[in-house]
Amino acid sequence: MDRIADIWGPRTPHARGTVWPARVDRHLQEGVAEEDVERWVRSACVLCSNGCGCEIAVRDGRMVGVRGVATDVVNHGRLGPKGLYGSWDWANSPDRLTRPLVRENGRLVETDWDTAMARIAEVSRRLLDEKGPLSHGFYTTGQLFLEEYYTLAVIGKAGLGTPHMDGNTRLCTATSAAAFKESFGTDGQPGSYTDIEHCDAIFLFGHNMPETQTVLWARVLDRTRADDPPKVVCVDPRRTKVAEEAERTGGVHLAPRVGTNMALMNGLTRELFANGRVDTAWVERHTLGVDDLRATVEPYTPEETARICGVDAEDVRRAARIFGESERVLSTVLQGFYQSHQATAAAVAVHNLHLLRGMIGRPGAGVLQMNGQPTAQNTRECGADGDLPGFRNWSNPAHVRELAELWNVDEMTIPHWAPPTHAMQIFRYAEQGSIGLLWISATNPAVSMPESARVRRILGGEQCFVVVQDLFLTETARLADVVLPAAGWGEKSGCFTNVNRTVHLSEKAVEPPGEARSDLDIFLMYADAMDFRDRDGAPLIKWRTPEEAFDAWRECSRGRPCDYSGLSYDKLRGPTGIPWPCTDEHPEGVDRLYGDGVFNTDPELCETYGHDLLTGGTVTPTEYRAKGPAGRAFLKGAPYVPPHEEASEEYPLLFTTGRTVYHFHTRTKTGRSRNLNDAAPDVWVELSVPDARRLGIAEGDRVRVESPRGAMEARARVGQVMEGAVFAPFHYGHWDLDEVVPEDFSRQANELTMTIWDPVSKQPYFKTAACRVVRVADGDGPAPAPTTTASRPVDPSVPPTRGGPGASTVAEVVDGFVPSYPNDPALPSGDTGHIAEVSAPGRS
Ligand code: SF4
Repeated sequence: MDRIADIWGPRTPHARGTVWPARVDRHLQEGVAEEDVERWVRSACVLCSNGCGCEIAVRDGRMVGVRGVATDVVNHGRLGPKGLYGSWDWANSPDRLTRPLVRENGRLVETDWDTAMARIAEVSRRLLDEKGPLSHGFYTTGQLFLEEYYTLAVIGKAGLGTPHMDGNTRLCTATSAAAFKESFGTDGQPGSYTDIEHCDAIFLFGHNMPETQTVLWARVLDRTRADDPPKVVCVDPRRTKVAEEAERTGGVHLAPRVGTNMALMNGLTRELFANGRVDTAWVERHTLGVDDLRATVEPYTPEETARICGVDAEDVRRAARIFGESERVLSTVLQGFYQSHQATAAAVAVHNLHLLRGMIGRPGAGVLQMNGQPTAQNTRECGADGDLPGFRNWSNPAHVRELAELWNVDEMTIPHWAPPTHAMQIFRYAEQGSIGLLWISATNPAVSMPESARVRRILGGEQCFVVVQDLFLTETARLADVVLPAAGWGEKSGCFTNVNRTVHLSEKAVEPPGEARSDLDIFLMYADAMDFRDRDGAPLIKWRTPEEAFDAWRECSRGRPCDYSGLSYDKLRGPTGIPWPCTDEHPEGVDRLYGDGVFNTDPELCETYGHDLLTGGTVTPTEYRAKGPAGRAFLKGAPYVPPHEEASEEYPLLFTTGRTVYHFHTRTKTGRSRNLNDAAPDVWVELSVPDARRLGIAEGDRVRVESPRGAMEARARVGQVMEGAVFAPFHYGHWDLDEVVPEDFSRQANELTMTIWDPVSKQPYFKTAACRVVRVADGDGPAPAPTTTASRPVDPSVPPTRGGPGASTVAEVVDGFVPSYPNDPALPSGDTGHIAEVSAPGRS
């Protein structure tokens, strides 16, 4: 089976309330047969936030393939194209970094670890002496393991004492975390993937699930293609596969103008009030703020909503009716909301819909505020972003004291006098030089951050010493002062937690190449070089191995909402990943949160005292306590305000960016998978038919897209975006181009985007920018965009996207095997159905 052409694989439809059948997907390197595999090593896929349980095939000390784990609750054996073709292929690429590099006379030259680390430590010590800890900034990722994040968090917060630490999860998932905190008191995903098995309707808000989480979409299709399908409602300016499924299931496709999500959400919320679809008794018992919310949304009649958003008023009524009349709604949210105007307010508005209907914490009635990056959840939990570990509140002295006692340091060392610095501000400080050492691990801001030209200037400037640890010489690493070769997935051990709180252990399968070291070892090496000590003079970092780091983290999480105290490496070697909280009381974890209607809003428990969603102004501890939340969730609203940059005479179109199916992030891994790269080898720009006609642009023509900040050139796909919008994938940088990139344009979508961010989550906007499009030259063929996805062309003569000879995979549906796990709500009450006793396919 060619899983480039058939992205989601064969259907296994099943009725509501029954278990999603197992199907084991497998792909091995061309020329390797199953009997050639020497070992299968347990892991989970780290190419998107779905976190599918898998096993790595090893032969002759190399990774040669992958297969799904039938017993795993996340995927029941399935893998998508990125997991099958891209999770391991990059490891054998000849351009891996194998030795440290240091900049000498403007050029990066190879060196040894001692020299590289000595250079970092020397700069670090000098800056600490001269300027103190605020001279240090760390920009990490959504790709490392929990143990590595936690170690980095302790180094930064207790060793150095800098508040300047964030992840590139700020670009992908910060709004998810912020929205949870504003509504429920702390971060933590309330819903579960198993809600798909039980819901009557699925609302996808700015979430192109068929391309961003292909296995989850297969799970949805297996419900929508059965006899009693849930209705699908799609909110997206493009006609995605979700939109097609919405039409097929009797749902709705709402395509709001770019930057108007908040008006649409207010319109939907008003309809619940106007039609008496509010569970008033539940709202009274379990929430605060309903009257303010009702007043805020009152002006957004369906007609007013339609006027602002450019949608049909009747479609607004229909979507609200589906939400209001269904017993069990599952909502999912992603970048269409998070990276857009009024991000946190719009994401919180999804919570409001569920709270007003009392639809949270029971099977089928859930919210999944998705993560963009696979291990983003761990960055948030462990405090390697702008949070304190264990969802602790930086402005609650008792929480800071707990950490100081745990780490045996003075509590004044732990930065808590102001909010932690978010990524956009860290780069501003690096631009000004107040941050003199910026350490970037496993991410590529030269391509992924907005306003690329500015980011290149910051990274390449003399004002800041830049350290990069990564697998390859990325666009960012090329600008660094020191480059450290890191081990990747399958080359090191550690845990990670997917979007619905399921923790997996990923075991080391092979040795990393050359002198590459695990990220944990690199951080430990720095801690040794800097000789960080606790209050008693003992080494601050008391662990040496991933398992010891995990055990230290367990203690840090104990008693907090993300409690890992019942987990261990041994337990995670079982048949499935386990969702936190996992404790003595819940030894098999918890499938969904807030089933009792009690939220984490108690002032001594909550992670934040909250914000005004419109301005970002903070609620003081006193104001918060005066509300007396007592475990009730907050209903919070905000009026719609227009986006910062709207279409104008000079820039008449709206530019929006996004992720597409065959690539992940900036292609550091997926661009090195032949199968994935051949399917989408170069950037493209999508235009609607009317806009293309007006501009005289045909499929494949070369176009230049310009915003007030920069320009990109690409071939045009005349496709499915709404009129007035221009879409480009953000994956493409320059590492795989032979020619020198011109100064005044490139193929990066982020040349055009803005240095501007949401006032609450501080997530930058990638979805709203004004632009103009100019035709540059005739095309020599169709755009290099897939035909299998939302990027499909209107021109039917464009050849379909297919995999090559090496794209063959196996998808095995095994009769008679029904996956289950202890928390499976489809099991009859009282049946623990422990799957450890089940002999399952796809397990060694
Ligand atoms: S859905 Fe995500 S986690 Fe699962 S195989 Fe695909 S890329 Fe990997």
